[in-house]
Amino acid sequence: MTDLNFDLPSDVLDEIQQNIQNIIESFDIPDDNKFDVIRKINFMYTQTKQLSITDALTNLYNRRYFETTLNREFARAKRYNSPLSLVVIDIDWFKKINDTYGHSCGDFVLKELAWMMCENFRQTDIIFRYGGEEFVILLTETPFENASIPVERLRKAVENSRFKFKGIELNITISAGVSSNKDIEDMEQMFDNADKALYEAKKDGRNCVRTFG
Ligand code: GH3
Ligand code: MG
Ligand code: MG
Repeated sequence: MTDLNFDLPSDVLDEIQQNIQNIIESFDIPDDNKFDVIRKINFMYTQTKQLSITDALTNLYNRRYFETTLNREFARAKRYNSPLSLVVIDIDWFKKINDTYGHSCGDFVLKELAWMMCENFRQTDIIFRYGGEEFVILLTETPFENASIPVERLRKAVENSRFKFKGIELNITISAGVSSNKDIEDMEQMFDNADKALYEAKKDGRNCVRTFG
């Protein structure tokens, strides 16, 4: 499963805490209640923060958090000279599922797939819903040869699964493109390379994984 750390630096957390205390001090709250109020505000802040980085349908990280995370992980991998892989996954013929069985069936497939992805990848891999039926996975400390292994495993698992929704049995397939940070200067290029590989997978008939380079 993916981790849900917010990665806020401790000085930012201290500042938030200070702001909360300032707000409380300007209100007339009895002293013996102050700790409880701080605790509640902290809890609400944490909840809000989590919502802002999560996709409501699948509970995966959202696109906004992908941008932040790619920035950080790309810089980290460069700094420590370590491999980083990026995977773009797209459900094949997804529009047909919505058009034939309705959007709630499409939504069900998205949730099931999100769950399967969490099951298939390591805790150090970070999974995002990038857009409609597109997902991105960042595999830290992983060169692209190794990244293809869990992606291929997921592809097979999806192909062999029956998605059961209100008496309907569906077979779905996914296509994926894989890239890595090897010989790459900027992170946009890394994303574009995975996207190009995904395009190749679609062109090669779908239900397959292609790597860039
Ligand atoms: P391809 O194999 O080329 O990827 O074909 P496709 O039909 O999967 O691709 P296309 O881009 O034509 O359609 C994507 C569809 O995804 C369109 C839209 O109906 C659906 N979609 C996007 N977001 C959601 C969502 O949140 N829920 C549901 N149910 N469907 C969504
Ligand atoms: Mg798509
Ligand atoms: Mg698609």
